[in-house]
Amino acid sequence: MVRINRNFLKLPGSYLFSEIDRRVKGYAQAHPQAQLIGLGIGDVTRPLPSAVTEAMHRAVEEMATPEGFHGYGPEQGYDFLRRAIARWDYQRRGIDITPEEIFLSDGAKSDSGNMGELFGVDNVVAVCDPVYPVYVDTNAMAGRAGEFDGHTGRWGALRYMPCVADNGFVPDIPWGEEAGLIYLCFPNNPTGAVASREQLGQWVEYANSSGAVILFDAAYEAFISQEDVPHSIFEVAGARTCAIEFRSFSKTAGFTGTRCAYTVIPKTLVRDGVALHALWSRRQSTKFNGVPYVVQRGAQAVYTPEGQRQVRETIAYYQRNAQVIRKGLEQAGLTVYGGVNAPYIWVKTPDGMGSWVFFDLLLERAGVVTTPGAGFGPSGEGYIRVTAFGSGADTCRAVERIAQAVGTL
Ligand code: PLP
Repeated sequence: MVRINRNFLKLPGSYLFSEIDRRVKGYAQAHPQAQLIGLGIGDVTRPLPSAVTEAMHRAVEEMATPEGFHGYGPEQGYDFLRRAIARWDYQRRGIDITPEEIFLSDGAKSDSGNMGELFGVDNVVAVCDPVYPVYVDTNAMAGRAGEFDGHTGRWGALRYMPCVADNGFVPDIPWGEEAGLIYLCFPNNPTGAVASREQLGQWVEYANSSGAVILFDAAYEAFISQEDVPHSIFEVAGARTCAIEFRSFSKTAGFTGTRCAYTVIPKTLVRDGVALHALWSRRQSTKFNGVPYVVQRGAQAVYTPEGQRQVRETIAYYQRNAQVIRKGLEQAGLTVYGGVNAPYIWVKTPDGMGSWVFFDLLLERAGVVTTPGAGFGPSGEGYIRVTAFGSGADTCRAVERIAQAVGTL
């Protein structure tokens, strides 16, 4: 009889957003008049920029002609898009990344989840706590996380690096301990924190000296508003020999439903005598048949002057929401973090209340859906995450309602 991958059975049953969904549906059924506002799940709400949709329309028309038809494309992505990415996202900032080092994909979720395939099961994996759950769950599926402990909410074999107010939500370097794979995400989901160039420099030094690999998730790079915050790990000297970077058009340009992202693996990154660029290339050409031509043409339009202007407008819209949330909740007496270089605001629960208790309270008294911090890891307990991806009007109403609900405590 076939045997299944039993690592899947170790995954805790209820994924965070299913549990939220269950509670929200239960509440909505019991209170059909309630007008709930969702500031929980991190999906965008603004439409695609017209520069993107127009480019996609043109590409669709091309596909309807014998000369313009595109079948299977290059697994790594079309040159036109990889060149635009290398020029705009890296070389323009003085970062040494070539088009050949860029792999197009259907999402940073798939890439960050699949990248673990390149590494042995016996590697020690370090993750931030709180953490984007994909890093943890995919390592658990691969058998790299050990056993899940329902009491602590931790996987036995993972190294959780607490990201708390005291360290500015940037993890301390585990000097002395051997971590093989290190997942870093800045601007961070869920805390909205950013790491400075010096902090990233220390991580790069650690990875180069210990032979570790940093998997750097920069999915929220477009939300950086402060001058001196690094947009890429490759801004740091030495990163080309220790880091892989994930980027996505999802939050930058509204591609959550359109699907396009990319991963950068420098050709100079070698571990165990093997170039990881060559390994990933082998993996992708075996398991992935490329991003649709039409979608890549849409993504290319992001790099036109009109596309850039429109994308900046949308980001500015979400940034205004983030400010409204930050200010409004601060005025309501709550302690808030993030929201300056990220679309996420990390809110301390009042009076040491548990994350889920505060989540329920806001659902019931304010009709606002948030995300309980505890769902992102043990150090997320005592926080909720609020997202800036709603409509401007909903965001203002939600903040007023939360302030009112908190005022009654
Ligand atoms: N990385 C982080 C940190 C995220 O928060 C998300 C989405 O919420 C993703 C990656 C997924 O990006 P994509 O839509 O490109 O799969």
